[in-house]
Amino acid sequence: MGAFSGRTVLVTGAGSGIGLAIARAFAREGARVLVHDVRDASRLAEELSGVFLQADLADPKEVEALGKEAAAMGVDVLVNNAGFQHIAPVEEFPLEVWQRMLQVMLTAPFQLTQALLPGMKRRGWGRILNIASIHGLVASPFKSAYISAKHGLIGLTKTVALEAGPHGVTVNAIAPAYVRTPLVEGQIQDQAKTLGIPPEEVAEKVFLAQAAIKRLIAPEEVAELALFLASEKASAITGAVFPIDLGWTAR
Ligand code: NAP
Repeated sequence: MGAFSGRTVLVTGAGSGIGLAIARAFAREGARVLVHDVRDASRLAEELSGVFLQADLADPKEVEALGKEAAAMGVDVLVNNAGFQHIAPVEEFPLEVWQRMLQVMLTAPFQLTQALLPGMKRRGWGRILNIASIHGLVASPFKSAYISAKHGLIGLTKTVALEAGPHGVTVNAIAPAYVRTPLVEGQIQDQAKTLGIPPEEVAEKVFLAQAAIKRLIAPEEVAELALFLASEKASAITGAVFPIDLGWTAR
């Protein structure tokens, strides 16, 4: 028996990085995990004794189908985690990439909230956790779509928190700085090439320049915060944004 025995948790983008750590953490605590990803993650779902749900969140129709399928399984905790990065100056940012990023990281969480909130309200208990970013709170150059989506996701978090609060449902956002995941490893390699410096120096000089604690965050550290926010102990916390950022936004 774990703290989440009897609970069903949907984690989007659960095949990799932060989503993977969150899915593992909830499974360890006894939850039935609905493992969503765009690529096949059926082996992971099997390993976690969960259920694999495949959908491309860039396609609103696929998100709608995912929401319906998940709602039929009775989701108690929704973790909107899937995301990706694209870096370009705003005047060169391709419109189709902008639209895709907004769809995956803002509209899909909105659609899944629409699909799953009614069941949570009916059961009188629910948790929605939106994985935002420090870039939901502050900006950096060349990440216009990502930063707009993440700022929007925090706005969605606060609005739904107000609507859902009277029904036993809390809605919060987590705002990590750089977490060691495939998404960040890719950015380290790209920046090393662009700047002509070794990858280790990118982490130290570029990514950690703003941080008080000079290391990357482990995905498991984000997962522990997610577990806490989904727990009974956090039932008074809603509409809030939790930086886990090594002091990045303290400056
Ligand atoms: P990751 O390792 O790349 O994992 C992201 C997951 O989302 C992958 O499984 C990916 O699938 C999936 N995904 C991407 N596009 C999708 C789509 N169209 N439909 C369905 N699934 C899709 O990245 P991560 O670092 O764990 O990031 C997870 C979340 O944390 C993101 O929202 C990110 O913005 C946020 N975040 C990350 C950091 C960080 O430093 N890593 C910091 C702050 C916030 P594929 O691999 O198949 O594309």
